[in-house]
Amino acid sequence: MNQRWRIIALWLIPLAMGILLFWQVLGSSEVKNLKSSSPAAVPMNTAVGRMSYGRFLDYIESGRVTSVDIYEGGRNAVVEAVDPDLDNRVQRLRVDLPGLAPELINTLKTEGISFDIHPVRTTPPALGILGNLLFPLLLIGGLILLARRSNSMPGGPGQAMQFGKTKARFAMDADTGVKFDDVAGVSEAKQDLQEVVTFLKQPERFTSVGAQIPKGVLLIGPPGTGKTLLAKAIAGEAGVPFFSLSGSEFVEMFVGVGASRVRDLFKRAKENSPCLIFIDEIDAVGRQRGAGIGGGNDEREQTLNQLLTEMDGFEGNSGIIIIAATNRPDVLDSALMRPGRFDRQVTVDAPDIKGRLSILKVHSRNKKLEESLSLESIARRTPGFTGADLANLLNEAAILTARRRKDHITLTEIDDAVDRIIAGMEGQPLTDGRSKRLIAYHEVGHALVGTLVKAHDPVQKVTLIPRGQAQGLTWFSPDEDQTLVSRAQLKARIMGALGGRAAEDLVFGHAEVTTGAGGDIQQVASMARQMVTRFGMSDLGPVSLEGSSQEVFLGRDLMTRSDISDAIAKQIDEQIRRMVKTSYQETIELIKPHRELMDRLVELIIEKETIDGEEFKDVVSKYVDIPDKERTAPIL
Ligand code: ADP
Ligand code: MG
Ligand code: ZN
Repeated sequence: MNQRWRIIALWLIPLAMGILLFWQVLGSSEVKNLKSSSPAAVPMNTAVGRMSYGRFLDYIESGRVTSVDIYEGGRNAVVEAVDPDLDNRVQRLRVDLPGLAPELINTLKTEGISFDIHPVRTTPPALGILGNLLFPLLLIGGLILLARRSNSMPGGPGQAMQFGKTKARFAMDADTGVKFDDVAGVSEAKQDLQEVVTFLKQPERFTSVGAQIPKGVLLIGPPGTGKTLLAKAIAGEAGVPFFSLSGSEFVEMFVGVGASRVRDLFKRAKENSPCLIFIDEIDAVGRQRGAGIGGGNDEREQTLNQLLTEMDGFEGNSGIIIIAATNRPDVLDSALMRPGRFDRQVTVDAPDIKGRLSILKVHSRNKKLEESLSLESIARRTPGFTGADLANLLNEAAILTARRRKDHITLTEIDDAVDRIIAGMEGQPLTDGRSKRLIAYHEVGHALVGTLVKAHDPVQKVTLIPRGQAQGLTWFSPDEDQTLVSRAQLKARIMGALGGRAAEDLVFGHAEVTTGAGGDIQQVASMARQMVTRFGMSDLGPVSLEGSSQEVFLGRDLMTRSDISDAIAKQIDEQIRRMVKTSYQETIELIKPHRELMDRLVELIIEKETIDGEEFKDVVSKYVDIPDKERTAPIL
């Protein structure tokens, strides 16, 4: 359907319904009017009683009826009759008649009863139609007026009626105020994008030698790594306006709007060139067409087609550069990546330790840190944190500092903020009792296994202060280099995760183990499955046995059959089960001889609520030799 028609249709439906509704109300009220006040209606107030037609005929026969007034074309009548029993008193009675039967008239004539037939009086037809139309006409007129008014009043009460207009839907920022200096830890991406700044600032340099300036750049990376910030920085460095719009905004709310938004956006951008268009979450519109359960989304595809058309429609040298961001490049329609569209792709990854340090430097510029607080130690504590996480970390720490009425952020606040970001809000510690002891043994189990298994990450701290969903927590400090994880490390992680349940089992017995290990067990299952199916670390050998069911929602592989036969699936399950079972046995064997040590650790932790890694190691080393952990030294 054509765009304009859609909008008109949208309008017409409620309008028509309104008119119909009012017509009906009007109609029914008119019927009422006819009955009650039209002169042709039965004057009910004068008839005091009712009688049946048969009785009426009897009355006529016995000569009691004195006069008859017939109404509504003979459908009812008011009868005057005398009652000989009551001194010939006159009664007025209403009678329903079967119609204006000639026999009745004849009878009345022969009996000499005076009668009158009152005609049905109607309004003249033309007048009636006018009356019927008047209200709907007023309604339509009113609505048109309303629509006019709201169109001429931007931001007025009628905003919802500006369906296709993008005005409020994309943001234009004449100067973002962000510079490359504000983005840290993504130096490679910055280098790639530096060139885009030059495209915007000095296009002649490229066009003079006949180079085509690229139109689109796709930023790929996990959320919070600074994609939006980078796009803003490009606009800021080049000093051009920044148009931004999120992919999900294209497709929200009303059908047929996405495509017109794209048109409007490009129109505005052309008027303001040179400029930068930033499309966030492009995967929301740019998904592979025709994919997904139940076929494609027509609306989304139209929007995407419009986007592609617009991108093809403007000259490469018109001074507009489009930057799009996504964290799902795998789902994007390949047409988007074609040369002449988003042909440049820049990856923005989570920062390494150096990157984290420089991001921390950027965000601590306006924060008061205690002098002894080293940003390096924070960077070291936060592997896997993105730029947004780090910004959030410093902010949380500053809030905690203010709440504690300190004037400088110290390591304590940083530590608390890290814990809070990773594991959630701190809860109230449990009061001493059986549950608390059980949790203590559970956590000590994790920590002890983590300490005694060589390939496991070292314990950072053990705590009984609840956080988020967890009643107690054991923190390990992960190695900086997480890119390659060995089989021994995975095995160690499985054992570490089983340590909690193993300790419960040993100390409290088979029947007393609790649901507290549910999360651990889930983790174990998923690690074991990956070892078998993805990493080829089982007796089935180095074969990839992943089913293709994970991407069902993308729809690409929906119709392809699973590459795994039932027999193999059974073997996979068998392997996982065996792996988990032997790991559990080994875990039990590992900690069983250290019951005394465990009791000691539990006492300590119940007394102190939290023990840090060093103290934990000290206690353990008095009872048993601790293997050295091999660690990649962080490069700073
Ligand atoms: P994305 O768009 O990749 O999801 P954003 O650019 O929106 O991430 O980042 C959110 C916030 O996190 C930024 O406003 C900034 O404060 C901070 N941030 C993220 N990455 C960086 C970085 N590399 N350098 C500095 N700050 C960053
Ligand atoms: Mg973003
Ligand atoms: Zn646990």
